[in-house]
Amino acid sequence: MEKKLSVVVSVYNEEQALPMFYETTKLILEILPWDYELLFVNDGSRDDSLSILREYAARDEKVKVVSFSRNFGHEAAMIAGIDYADGDGIVCMDADLQHPPECLPEIVRKFEEGCGVISMVRTKNKSAGLIKNITSAGFYWVINTLSEVKFEPNASDFFAVSREAAEVLRKNYREKVRFLRGYVQSIGFQKTTITYEAHDRVAGESKYSIRKLLAFSMNTIMCFSNLPLKLGIYAGAFAGLLGVAVMIYTLFTRQGAPSGYATIVILNCFMFAILFLIVGIIGEYIAILFSELKDRPIYIVEETQNVEKKSV
Ligand code: UDP
Ligand code: MG
Repeated sequence: MEKKLSVVVSVYNEEQALPMFYETTKLILEILPWDYELLFVNDGSRDDSLSILREYAARDEKVKVVSFSRNFGHEAAMIAGIDYADGDGIVCMDADLQHPPECLPEIVRKFEEGCGVISMVRTKNKSAGLIKNITSAGFYWVINTLSEVKFEPNASDFFAVSREAAEVLRKNYREKVRFLRGYVQSIGFQKTTITYEAHDRVAGESKYSIRKLLAFSMNTIMCFSNLPLKLGIYAGAFAGLLGVAVMIYTLFTRQGAPSGYATIVILNCFMFAILFLIVGIIGEYIAILFSELKDRPIYIVEETQNVEKKSV
């Protein structure tokens, strides 16, 4: 039987980029040795994206649309795409043509060689500014220092997984606070990387603000590491030793009672700072536990085209 490639595309307010994306990608999909489906996940767009997608689906049966009831975020969209895709290989990509569809033939070749996880590594990110590049490098340094799994620094949300690998993601990685890209790299299987050059977005603007990225980085570190929780032990030990040192110093220099006011104030502020920091970190982990416990859905589907709605 002919094999099938599922191309999962997350769409959030992409009315300007969609026509170009559809035309370009379709041309490439048509010449692939595999059959294909083009699965768009509309992540609660507030512009005309959904009606454009409905129109594509009406005239092209290979276009499938899964539309959320509201905005659930890019990761939720990719997860839904993986849930609904039924190809032998699944590729996740953005709708703004920053992930070149020209890579698809090579992805299919890698699948044919038996690869399970294909990470697309960008060589250049023209559109990302200096700040974004520096924070991204810092983030990967922290996460790679803290976590057992090693992450590819330039890996993007552009990746491909085989049917077997997708099944693992569908069944076992349903966390509410998560880092999909990281999971993809941590599940094993025969891995390979393909490098590509990231282009500028064809139209529209980036939907990721620095604030969103920061929140995302914090969550990710906490998903993969318990080390921040141990900070309390180290800080406590440090504060204890400092106390002993000050005590010995005071004993030997026989300081009188009135002096040392500044020392006390400084130490107090310092200790409280550490204390609150640690309470805050514990709070963050509890928040993660809380959202897991509530077990709310990762996404809610409102309507679908050319694919049957799943009850989740
Ligand atoms: N996206 C999404 N939901 C969101 C934000 C973004 O589905 O809440 C989609 C967006 O339409 C695009 C992809 O995720 O296809 C990547 O977003 P964007 O291009 O804004 O991010 P950047 O490339 O700047 O990192
Ligand atoms: Mg983009």
